[in-house]
Amino acid sequence: MEQEKQDHTIRSMAKLGSLLTLSEDEKTFQEGKQALPVAINPYFFNLIDPKDPKDPLRRQVVPTRFEQIENRGEDIDPLEEIDHSITERLIHRYENRVAFLVTDICPLYCRHCFRRRFTGTFNGPATRRQIEEAAEYIQQHPKVKEILLTGGDMMTLSDSRIDEMVTIFRTARPDLIIRLCTRTPATWPQRITDDLIAIFKKHSTAPFYVMTQFNHPRELTEEAKIAISRFVDAGIPAMNQTVLLRGVNDSVDTLEELCNKLLANRVKPYYLFQGDLVSGTAHFRVPLIRGMEIEEELHRRLSGLAMPSYTVDLPEGGGKVPLAKCYIEGNDGQGTWKIRTPEGGVRYYQDPPSGD
Ligand SMILES: *Cc1c(COP(=O)(O)O)cnc(C)c1O
Ligand code: SF4
Repeated sequence: MEQEKQDHTIRSMAKLGSLLTLSEDEKTFQEGKQALPVAINPYFFNLIDPKDPKDPLRRQVVPTRFEQIENRGEDIDPLEEIDHSITERLIHRYENRVAFLVTDICPLYCRHCFRRRFTGTFNGPATRRQIEEAAEYIQQHPKVKEILLTGGDMMTLSDSRIDEMVTIFRTARPDLIIRLCTRTPATWPQRITDDLIAIFKKHSTAPFYVMTQFNHPRELTEEAKIAISRFVDAGIPAMNQTVLLRGVNDSVDTLEELCNKLLANRVKPYYLFQGDLVSGTAHFRVPLIRGMEIEEELHRRLSGLAMPSYTVDLPEGGGKVPLAKCYIEGNDGQGTWKIRTPEGGVRYYQDPPSGD
């Protein structure tokens, strides 16, 4: 399965240039050691409109020279994941949950990838020993209730490797909630086979959740919808994490359509991430004030179920913080709160009388 699909993946600018008319900014991207590798699989490539140089899907996968400019405040590891690493592959940043870097490989490399210090670095999948070490750690830390299997994209592993890994974690902690963090429903939906789903069903002592990353409504193809259905039909709830990306989805209309489409396909919009301060991604970031305007308008247009939480993962490992508009204007010291309505009006909310 791995091989089959990787064979026709576009892996060089030369190859890409023979298939698309590259712009000056794309042509001047320099492949090399310091760069996130180029990889675009045939499925995603075929979703790109070759006639539109500003195509939002193209922008996510075709590199430009802007990636090679470092800007103020940027860092290769702003979330300080390395400092929070327990082992080479296990990040313990929040007390009750850990992230395990299953592999650095993805079916395609997103040019906005925030984990680019690790992604595509040719480290490959975690070894059995690395998985066992992580499992031992979690066994010794019962406060850890959830594990995020992330990367890279965990679904680039073969079925048997996924089975082996899940077995090890489940054996150590049958009660552990496992989040399957994968972009394959958007980038390689054919990977989500009944055989793959059967592996998770076999290990159902505690829930799995699938955490997808759809950034644009056009990524929700018929194939993608089938991939999502397979998870949800098997009792694996689907949650989506969108990255707010300039020139891709920094428009209220686009995000409204995306969130409604996700919800209609049984995917809960979970996070809308403000871009992390990762080196070489400034051209993708949206100014905070604009992000907050978008969030405010989305809140007016979307149902509570369709509304993601607009969030930033702060630099220097500050952690995730919600950026949603605050409607509280103040309080008079007597327990009366002045609160704005989404339409711009004002209401007062009274605290209960103090006492016992
Ligand atoms: C984002 C993240 C999590 C999960 O956070 P939630 O807010 O629960 O989705 C866990 N560990 C690390 C290191 C993370 O970056
Ligand atoms: S699929 Fe995820 S890990 Fe892989 S390049 Fe894209 S954002 Fe990064």
